[in-house]
Amino acid sequence: MASNLDRVDHHRSSDDWVAGLWRSEDARLLKLTATSEFTTHAGGTRLRMTKPFVEFDLQRHRLLGLLDGAPVFAVEALTEGEVRALREVGGLLSDDERDIAAAAVGISNWHRSEPFCPLCGTRTVVINGGFARRCESCQHDHFPRTDPAVIVAVIDDRDRILLGGQASWGNRVSVLAGFVEAGESLEQAIHREVGEEVDVTLSDLAYFGSQPWPFPRSLMVGYFARAVTTDICLDLDEIAFADWYTRDELTAALAADKRGLPGHSSIAARMIQAWRDGVAPL
Ligand SMILES: [Zn+2]
Repeated sequence: MASNLDRVDHHRSSDDWVAGLWRSEDARLLKLTATSEFTTHAGGTRLRMTKPFVEFDLQRHRLLGLLDGAPVFAVEALTEGEVRALREVGGLLSDDERDIAAAAVGISNWHRSEPFCPLCGTRTVVINGGFARRCESCQHDHFPRTDPAVIVAVIDDRDRILLGGQASWGNRVSVLAGFVEAGESLEQAIHREVGEEVDVTLSDLAYFGSQPWPFPRSLMVGYFARAVTTDICLDLDEIAFADWYTRDELTAALAADKRGLPGHSSIAARMIQAWRDGVAPL
């Protein structure tokens, strides 16, 4: 589904245009902490935004885009209040506010972690309303990077789902996931990751959806996969335990508190729910 947040790519290279938006009556500003947390209204269901009132500073103020024509900015300037993390409240926010928060968190993480030119080491300056940085020494422009990761719900021919966990997760289980490596397609990454972690062979893959996961800069790409084999051989460096579950077995394990599920804001939770509801794409 298209986002309602218009990122105004064709206009944001004009510093004057961006500064004019900052001064407009309906501009709003989301303040973030130095670790990309923010404050909310109503127990995490709405972002707490303010009207900008200081002078515009291209080096600090990030134009996220226009929402229903109103400019939305972010700044790393929050030092007080009860702060929330996107990971915690992403599932409570409206689609529009989740898009704003994800953009703010992702772009802030990038500026914080990559202030220097990766080619020559010079400190870069912010351009494009915060969506790029320019090296004035070697004249290269640099853009926020996204690390793709695959997340895969493996289903066997008895319609069981494969769920596993890491030692640090307690009793929580999830579908399998891993980063895409250099030169690899999403599909190749899925076959490799599932092979490495549990030694299960897959046949069909079906796309489910994707989710920005800016912690610090991932994009989770979700697939369902059909298992050809069901014997599990764990790579204990990657995963501590894994097993097949029928819907009834998972429901009983959850009810008895023997197992827990991923946080409601994650694509993993939506994938497991799709399988429980019988609406998985394969
Ligand atoms: Zn440079």
